[in-house]
Amino acid sequence: MAWIFLLLASAAMAFPDERLVEVTPANVPGVVLDLRYASTNNLTGKALYPDAKAYLRQEAIRQLRRVARELEDEGYRLVIWDAWRPASAQRALWKAKPDGKFLTPPSKISRHRRGTSVDVSLADGKGNILEMPSDHDEFNAKADEDFSDVPKEVALRARILRKAMFAAGFSGVPDEWWHYDLRDWADYEPVEDKKMGGSR
Ligand SMILES: [Zn+2]
Repeated sequence: MAWIFLLLASAAMAFPDERLVEVTPANVPGVVLDLRYASTNNLTGKALYPDAKAYLRQEAIRQLRRVARELEDEGYRLVIWDAWRPASAQRALWKAKPDGKFLTPPSKISRHRRGTSVDVSLADGKGNILEMPSDHDEFNAKADEDFSDVPKEVALRARILRKAMFAAGFSGVPDEWWHYDLRDWADYEPVEDKKMGGSR
């Protein structure tokens, strides 16, 4: 029977905080997890997360469920590039690109650290990731919400995603088409990662 307790103990340890909920196809239908900071495909070139799990506040998940349903009606699936981001990852990103225009310095609390923000993209109905205006964390003019500099069908997809996110209650930022926040993000405390030590 000891293995059952071991399994339970390891599952509990892997969970960062009781205020966060894991994003799965059960709570966000059809979601495609492409967590860039869990792979080496990010601006640091290193995996920053111990696993490829996405965590968010319950309210953000509730709104994403609405987004997923709306997208499904249009033949798309929601892709998640990043969700809750522990302070350790914020520090690693800043070290790789210390530019306050694009990243929150470690001295400030990023919105992602509150579990209220999510970086999203689009996949087709089969889960194939689609071309969008730019890659994740591609910090140039293609990343902004002026989609006149990208192919028409790509601009259309970005607008479909934006419309669905806004309709579900998220707010966006002008410089990153992939980034969205709960509108009342400032009311949420940052969540540290117990497993990683979570120091400030
Ligand atoms: Zn973001």
